[in-house]
Parts: sequence; structure tokens; C-alpha cells
Amino acid sequence: MKNRVDKLIDSFTSKDVNDENVLSAIRKIPREKFVEQPLRELCYDDIPLPIGHGQTISSVYIVALMTQALSLDKEHKVLEVGTGSGYQAAVLAALSASVFTVERIRDLSSKARVVIESLNIRNITFIVGDGTIGFSEYAPYDRIIITACSPNVPMSLFNQLKEGGIMVMPVEKSGLQNISVIEKRNGGMHSKDIAPANFVKLIGKNGYETQKM
Ligand code: SAM
Repeated sequence: MKNRVDKLIDSFTSKDVNDENVLSAIRKIPREKFVEQPLRELCYDDIPLPIGHGQTISSVYIVALMTQALSLDKEHKVLEVGTGSGYQAAVLAALSASVFTVERIRDLSSKARVVIESLNIRNITFIVGDGTIGFSEYAPYDRIIITACSPNVPMSLFNQLKEGGIMVMPVEKSGLQNISVIEKRNGGMHSKDIAPANFVKLIGKNGYETQKM
């Protein structure tokens, strides 16, 4: 797969993802381990792929873009909402001190944990529940990433972000999704949109209405 990863990464540089630490984490984490066998061939095409339960693993470019926007360092404690396959969590774990990842679908969380353990990644804690309320036990976080689209920035999560912290998430406005980068400065919210997106919905108390799974 190596040539295909490099080829994919080469295409990123023209799209503004050029942080060497992020690119090296993308090279290091084997995306093919996070999808079912029949989809592995498609792993280094830059497309989202199904992971069951109507959910998806994001394209590599989107994972790299959102990770770069977080400006991670090795001291950071990170909260991820939307574990999905566990791939994004693995990339975050390569660039930070610890990752707490919340998933509402138990089966996805369990499968992600198995893959992460098989890769011997030890700084990820898996939580099953509604991530729209955050995970107060380990708050505040240096960085927060939400990998499902929300109708707004959940204040419950913003309140769990440290002063000076950064949160990255897709937000829907007027029917269109954009990836927003939100900084907490003097307790205030400063946000900018960096790219259009097409994520599954964030479903929960502070996201979209709960749907029967
Ligand atoms: N980060 C994932 C990866 O690397 O594979 C992709 C995430 S997928 C696009 C979005 C995930 O968010 C789905 O697995 C979905 O079940 C989850 N999700 C949606 N609403 C949630 C909530 N309130 N709390 C936790 N997870 C949620």
C-alpha cells in the first residue's frame, strides 16, 4: 500500500495539508485495518467508506485537514466525538498525549477498540454514550474534534474546552456543511470555516434529534 499512501499524500500538498507531523501520522496508521476486507482495495482512494450501521470512515484528506486544524502537540489531551472505525482516533493518538473517544453505537466502539489494540496503540480511552454532552470526567480538554455534523456548536462541548483550546467540527448552516475551527479566547468563541464537508449527523441531546437505530 505504501506507494498509494504517498501518492495520496502528494495530492494533499496542493490542497493545503502540509504539516509534516500530520502527514507522517497518516503514513504510519494503516487505514486498511479500519475497514472490512472487501473494501481494503479502496482504502487509498480519497473517499469515505462505509463501516456499518449507516456510518462512514471519512476520506483521508478530510481526516488530515481536520487533524492539521487542531495544531496538536505531544502534551495535548484530546476529546473526539464519533469514534466510528477508530481511524481518526489513531491519527490523533500519534500526535498527542491522550485521546478520549466517544461513540453512541456500542458495536462500532467495540470494533474500533479491537483494531486499536491490535496496532498496540495505548493512549486511547473508548467511551460509549452521547458525545454531544462531552465527557466531563476528564475535562477540560486541550483539543476537541467532532466527526459528525451538528446544527450548531454544542455549548456543553465548548465548556469542556480549555482556555486557548481549539475545537474542529462540521457545522450545518442553511443546508450546507462546513468544517469550522473554533478557538476559545478569553472565554469567547472565535470561529472560521475552512472547507465544505459532507458528514453523517451528530445525533444526541445537543445535536440532531435522537433517531431510533
Ligand atoms: N471518526 C470516525 C472514523 O475515523 O472512522 C468517523 C466518524 S463517522 C463520520 C461519525 C460517527 O459519529 C458515527 O460512528 C456515529 O455513530 C457517531 N456519532 C453520531 N452522533 C454521536 C453522538 N452523539 N455521540 C457519539 N458518537 C456519535
